[in-house]
Amino acid sequence: MTLPLFPVTVIGSWPRSNEVKRAMRDKRDGRITEEEFQCIADQAILQILKWQEEAGIDIVTDGEQRRDNFISFVAEHLDNVQMLSVSELLEYVEDKASFEEILGTLDVPAFSMSNPAAVGKISRKKPLALGDYLFLKKYTDKAVKVALPGPYLLTRAMWVEGLSMDAYPAKEDLAVDIIKVLREELEDLIAAGVEFVQFDEPVLTELVFTQKNANRTFMCGALTAKADAEEEIAFALDLMNQVTAGMLGRGTRIGVHICRGNWSTQEHVLLRGPYYPLIPYLANVHIDQLILEYATPRAGEMDAIRDFGSKEIGLGIVNPRTEVVESVDDIVERVQEVRKYVPDEKIFLNPDCGFGTFAQRPMNSDKMAVQKLKIMVEAAKEIRGKVLS
Ligand SMILES: [Zn+2]
Repeated sequence: MTLPLFPVTVIGSWPRSNEVKRAMRDKRDGRITEEEFQCIADQAILQILKWQEEAGIDIVTDGEQRRDNFISFVAEHLDNVQMLSVSELLEYVEDKASFEEILGTLDVPAFSMSNPAAVGKISRKKPLALGDYLFLKKYTDKAVKVALPGPYLLTRAMWVEGLSMDAYPAKEDLAVDIIKVLREELEDLIAAGVEFVQFDEPVLTELVFTQKNANRTFMCGALTAKADAEEEIAFALDLMNQVTAGMLGRGTRIGVHICRGNWSTQEHVLLRGPYYPLIPYLANVHIDQLILEYATPRAGEMDAIRDFGSKEIGLGIVNPRTEVVESVDDIVERVQEVRKYVPDEKIFLNPDCGFGTFAQRPMNSDKMAVQKLKIMVEAAKEIRGKVLS
């Protein structure tokens, strides 16, 4: 699909309406059937699609309305995966007091946190996202982005000592099957003609930006205590490159999204730090596009981009968590800066992260999300005008 210069897109998630949240609870508690839930989600998705199309963005998503959050949904799609609540997770943590303290200081929404754990050999019971794509594509001519949890995120989240060890003695063993699952999904998505697949790997920032004691974050349960950061980055890189081997250049753009957390609107509790320590990953990962935060000052200087290789940049240009709409001038200025490092045809514009990563804690209102999309579209038009004139 032909895209204009500086295509505008989103990260993926959109706030869930009260109706969708109620339907999620009703489904979980058995008050409505899976089909009834999907019907309610379908309607919500069509509304969100309409908002995105009216705002004029170039690549749309389904707002992840069928998912409780960006990772937990895999439990329903895989065999031998069990959802753990925070209290159940605590059973597997040796130092419960410090884990609870971390949850408290980081303003983690405990009610939102649930973690899929491997309790046996995992495999795909049904596709993870293919059905979501096929539904959305029936209703739009726009290019579609589909988000999937990245292989490192899944490995960190799903390997829970004491639960996973019979099937997988170490997290590296589980990773082999996670790569298999993600490659099967990617094959299906490429065959279906998906325009853009984005792997979410937020937990990479936890390796380099947490304080020395905070070796567990809410981001994925992350019960595997942090090992040496450089080794973990190399491990994460190897997993991603195994997933994308032979998949590039087949019509589907493949990206990785990395951010410093999107679980609270309190910027000060989210992770902070420039991209430099992640360069070994960012420069060597075999993908088309890096989708990165740059609207928040916590992401540091833009000059790190020169060391990312010649990939496309999905430039985070609006903050999904604030109630102030960025100005066209600010966005244009930021894009002019990135143009020093990246050719025009490789610059995409997007928010720093989703507008509703966790169903129970949206980062913004529908109205503000729409306004932020519109301002990106307006800025993209202005930049195209400058470039082409
Ligand atoms: Zn994010």
